Amino acid sequence: MIRRLDAFPRIHLFDAPTPIQRLARIEAALGLKGARLFVKRDDLMGLGGGGNKLRKLEFLLGAAIDQGCDTFVTTGARQSNHARLSAAAAARMGLAAELMLTDTVPREDEAYRHNGNQLLDGLFGATVHHLPGGADALAAAHVRAEELRAAGRKAYVVGAGGSSPVGALGYVACADEIRAQEAALGLSFGTIIVANGSHGTHAGLVAGLAASGDDPRRVLSFTVLAELEEARNHTRALANDTLAVLAGDPLEGDDIRINGSQRGEAYGIPTEAMLAAVRLMARQEGLLIDPVYSGKAFAGVLAGLAEGQFTGDVLFVMTGGTPGLYAYQPAFAA
Ligand SMILES: *Cc1c(COP(=O)(O)O)cnc(C)c1O
Repeated sequence: MIRRLDAFPRIHLFDAPTPIQRLARIEAALGLKGARLFVKRDDLMGLGGGGNKLRKLEFLLGAAIDQGCDTFVTTGARQSNHARLSAAAAARMGLAAELMLTDTVPREDEAYRHNGNQLLDGLFGATVHHLPGGADALAAAHVRAEELRAAGRKAYVVGAGGSSPVGALGYVACADEIRAQEAALGLSFGTIIVANGSHGTHAGLVAGLAASGDDPRRVLSFTVLAELEEARNHTRALANDTLAVLAGDPLEGDDIRINGSQRGEAYGIPTEAMLAAVRLMARQEGLLIDPVYSGKAFAGVLAGLAEGQFTGDVLFVMTGGTPGLYAYQPAFAA
């Protein structure tokens, strides 16, 4: 028997369901035949600039508050969307936020160092700790939590992207939401496409579909951080850990579909295909996607459509992250 999501502590951070919209102008620009393209607007959330991390934070902060914590400690890259939304959500709930941010991406320019998410972390009142690129940020977060404990505080610690099994419950909820929207709109998506960084979005969707007896192979992600094999192994492990929390059965061996073609040189390094995908979305639809995650994943959607890989109705999950555009101003100006 599967545990229901309402068995877990949860707070309300945004209004659901997020809309599903059709991209008719991009379909026309691509001359698509035999496929229709839709987006799920998980960028459209009314807190802190919005984005996929708020779904995870509903459960993570729910657990933190349930445990009597007064501080939320998490990790990420300098331009982490998860760190920014953790700061916003903690502010909203009256908790302190401490962010352990690593200089993973080799960029020294002003925009990357101080604009975008960095600007917003400060506005939301978070305490930011900067660590060198190779540092173990999660270990540093646990050390910081101990210091806080010695000072009489109580910290909740979660690693990069909020991608613990509890965080992934946010995308279990999203899978339920998509299934309900399919029924209401009379649609059935053959492929549901997301970016894959810390794996929680893909893992949560897959766990949610599997827990409902639906086909987890409908989900396809484009890895932007780990290399393909590592991304697949970590996503499968996280999906199974999430299913274990739900008391569901583990996945079959081949249920995790990930494509490695859009990662480029490394996490956070622009690709030509990403720049073209961000521009196409902006010019044809007036919509913003981010340069680190959705830009690369949408480039993969465009490549797949051009090669006729997807047929029927395709759903691309827009995951937010648009403050990153301001941090990447030099890449778009070049
Ligand atoms: C974190 C993030 C993702 C990837 O989600 P994961 O759960 O980390 O795989 C996608 N898009 C944006 C904008 C993000 O910030």
